[in-house]
Amino acid sequence: MPTLHASLSGSPTIIRVETVLVDVPLGQRTITDSQSSVDSVEFLQVRIDTDAGVTGYGFNWNYSKGLKSAKVMIDECYAPAVIGKPALQRHALMKAMHSTTHFIGRVGVARVGLAAMNLALWDIQLKLEEQPLWRHLGPCKTKVKAYNTDGGWLTWSTEELISDMHRIIDRGFDAVKMKLGRPDPREDFERVKAVRKAIGESVRLMVDVNTVWDLKTAIVWGRRLEQFDIAWLEEPMHPFDVRAHAELAKALDVPIAVGETIYTLHDFRDYIDQKAVDIVQADVTKLSGIEEWLDVAALGRAYGLSVIPHTNVQHNVHAQLAAATENTPMVECCYESLFDIWENPIRVVDGHYTLPEVPGVGGKLTDAVLEKHRVA
Ligand SMILES: [Mg+2]
Repeated sequence: MPTLHASLSGSPTIIRVETVLVDVPLGQRTITDSQSSVDSVEFLQVRIDTDAGVTGYGFNWNYSKGLKSAKVMIDECYAPAVIGKPALQRHALMKAMHSTTHFIGRVGVARVGLAAMNLALWDIQLKLEEQPLWRHLGPCKTKVKAYNTDGGWLTWSTEELISDMHRIIDRGFDAVKMKLGRPDPREDFERVKAVRKAIGESVRLMVDVNTVWDLKTAIVWGRRLEQFDIAWLEEPMHPFDVRAHAELAKALDVPIAVGETIYTLHDFRDYIDQKAVDIVQADVTKLSGIEEWLDVAALGRAYGLSVIPHTNVQHNVHAQLAAATENTPMVECCYESLFDIWENPIRVVDGHYTLPEVPGVGGKLTDAVLEKHRVA
């Protein structure tokens, strides 16, 4: 393993970029929200080799099929732009890669591939420094609070919902989220009412619509739900409609949360500038990686907003970013059945993430997973 001293004497050169696509079964009951029904998760693993013998790993993910498109972006656009270049000149490399997608997409698939490359480049630097990400950034907390989304799925009965909430709370969580967006909002209302009654007043309860309401529905039912002391109303409407979110935020007292389908710093700026968001759910795998996530977190801090990253499989990176970010009070926790697909998996103990001491970003799937579930 090269030392920090060696890394400072010059950057290693990128000699190879490889991508592997895997489809990993969830290993738990099918989970559902108003947009998705999930039995398995696709992962794209990026591997960047350098002439110093240091290898960086990055990743991205998707619920449905189609992540192969991000693999194509990397194989055909990003890899040629970085091979032969200094691995530590990350800003220049990001700019070069971003330029290759000028006419074929700056968000979505293009951004998802770019984020995977960014994480792999960070992984190289952190391994050279022999530090985990949070220690490199400088921690402001030594443990990171988690809130739990692993109950509360949309198609479960109210009884299942309540028993899962109790199971989660018994494990030490004091903040939970449930899904809304049933065809009849009256059912959402009754389910929230039942859950609030079951878990009591001391547990924080968030609700997530996954973008299916229109403005009228959001105003009417958001207002009615406020009596249940909702900590935030998440993704009530189409994420591109900033104006509607601004109107909703003005009409309701409950905080509005968005971010898991917002891909750029500029889009977050528009949301914040128009007072259309209260809880910023920036996701490092939807933005172009760690720098842009930190930019969004800093923007949020300037406006006095909390950044609570959307997290389903990227716990390791987000817990580390949260440890080094003042305005990130907690990180989402779900899909715990997938924790062990990672090398050096993160854990949640008594409602808090443990922070890794292994150098790097923490985004390498185990060799067993890469072998067993490889599809491309
Ligand atoms: Mg959500």
